[in-house]
Amino acid sequence: MFTHHVFCLSCLKQMIHDNETNYNVCMHGLERFHTDTSIDLRARPLHDYTPELFTAILDMLEVLPFRHLKLAIQPAQDALEIANYLGVEELEMRARLVHADVISRKGQAAEGGRMFHEVNVWAVNGQSPYVLARSHRLLSVFFSRIGDYASAFEHAVRGLEHLSDSARSYIRADHIFALTNALDGNGAYDESAQWFQEIVRLAAETEDITLSLMALNNRAFTQCELGNREEAWELVLQMKRIIQEYRMPTNIGILDTIARTEILMERPADAASTLQPIVQAAGYVPNEFALLPECMLTYTVALRVQGIFEEAQATLNQTKELCMQYNLTPIMVNVCLEQARLFAAQGLYKEAYEAHCRFHVEEAALRRAEREGRARILHAVFDATEARKGLAHFQKLALRDPLTNLYNRRYLEAYIRTLTENTGRENELATVAVLDVDYFKRINDTCSHAVGDTVLVQLSKILMQEAAELATIARYGGEEFLLIFVGLTEDDSRRCIERLHQAIQEADWNPIVGDLPVTVSIGVSTFYLSQINCIETLLQEADTNLYTAKRSGRNRIVATSVSDHVF
Ligand code: GH3
Ligand code: MG
Ligand code: MG
Repeated sequence: MFTHHVFCLSCLKQMIHDNETNYNVCMHGLERFHTDTSIDLRARPLHDYTPELFTAILDMLEVLPFRHLKLAIQPAQDALEIANYLGVEELEMRARLVHADVISRKGQAAEGGRMFHEVNVWAVNGQSPYVLARSHRLLSVFFSRIGDYASAFEHAVRGLEHLSDSARSYIRADHIFALTNALDGNGAYDESAQWFQEIVRLAAETEDITLSLMALNNRAFTQCELGNREEAWELVLQMKRIIQEYRMPTNIGILDTIARTEILMERPADAASTLQPIVQAAGYVPNEFALLPECMLTYTVALRVQGIFEEAQATLNQTKELCMQYNLTPIMVNVCLEQARLFAAQGLYKEAYEAHCRFHVEEAALRRAEREGRARILHAVFDATEARKGLAHFQKLALRDPLTNLYNRRYLEAYIRTLTENTGRENELATVAVLDVDYFKRINDTCSHAVGDTVLVQLSKILMQEAAELATIARYGGEEFLLIFVGLTEDDSRRCIERLHQAIQEADWNPIVGDLPVTVSIGVSTFYLSQINCIETLLQEADTNLYTAKRSGRNRIVATSVSDHVF
């Protein structure tokens, strides 16, 4: 019997080497944290593997790339062969996901993404909810990696939805991890914080120290980036306690977070000594995280703040070389910015100004490369026609309201966030309309809740007919709908809203509600995209206008124009 509920490297090794062991209880205690080991699936002859044993191995192998990439590389390759030998389709798919995970973490995003997608398509049509859940979870990471956080969020949600309640808690934690990443990417930090607590709880439940550290590290990094000193520092102290208590091997990503936080706490000398050992022990292997150059950059900042300019410049030069050698454009942008700061700190203002100009050039190049890269990768992963079908299908499942099949609030919030981040479209207009059914309670009470539902479905159809081509339409709450028009003139958007108001008035509601009137009130407001810095500003004014429409008699539109507000 091969069942195991916690992640443990020693148990994984024993599964490969021994027979007939019951792994229900992990007896290894702290030994599970030792990572200076190797996992060799070939230690057992191929014909010795049974589907049952291989399933148990996959249960752990699945999270290995995420936890210890280096340890996972060879077993991921071997697992393909074992799966092939066993000929069990579900196991084959799981092995392919592990392999694709390794590939994409090593930097081949498009190739990995293509494989996730293929397995996902198999699972959507097939019989394995678990493979479906895993493939969504991995697609989520794929989209995070290429900077498409709305899709990343969508897949993370699907990945959790399909995970059965009996899933192992470290697998559940792994799926939640993807969700917190996607939420952070969307700027939904509060929501991400709640899920973070859930990971911490799951990690504590299974004494999963690696997982605790990874979660703390992610969270601390985000808090540090946001400039939340106290929160970041508290998390760093927790990490330090754990590393010390369990004598965990120090990991370069964690050290970078610690150093960044130390700089934020105005302890640059501590930051420099935190990073010194890794910066000085060269030997760079490129991977997706490009951690060493990141650390070197942090180290440069720590030196600059202390006024140790010469060494700072030398480190920065090395970092620049690495960036050029390995084409690390995103870091190069920060290198240019740091160069400007380093010159300025020495009073070299002319040089600082020039470095700043280079920073802007690099940054523009980066944005362009990101856009093009994203398009290229998406094209490689989902071929053009299938892409449309595939993505539309996911969106429909993940973020639509089941009653009306319109987008739901979740989708809308992610969508608005992508709007606010959209560079290059600052001068375009966004018009938002909030639509609320008048006296809807009366419809529910006089007829029935089911009739109320039918009214909502019918209204959605009218909205789709009148506005789907021009607007993103969502059911925002019970009997409230929201429409967003982007890139249209104020007049065009208004005309569409007037048309749909008219259509609602002219619709024949009699077969549904008898003599009761069905009308709506609509609040409208228009902005430049550059004025939208959060969802609240976008919705607040439309909401106020809706309230005015209600108070002044209902069944009407109240709108403010883009020229009416100044921020
Ligand atoms: P007002 O004109 O001021 O908007 O009046 P109202 O009656 O519409 O007031 P209110 O917005 O407070 O009431 C909304 C009602 O919608 C309350 C709730 O029971 C009902 N509702 C919310 N969701 C649903 C749903 O999915 N189906 C049905 N049938 N009713 C719903
Ligand atoms: Mg309402
Ligand atoms: Mg209402």
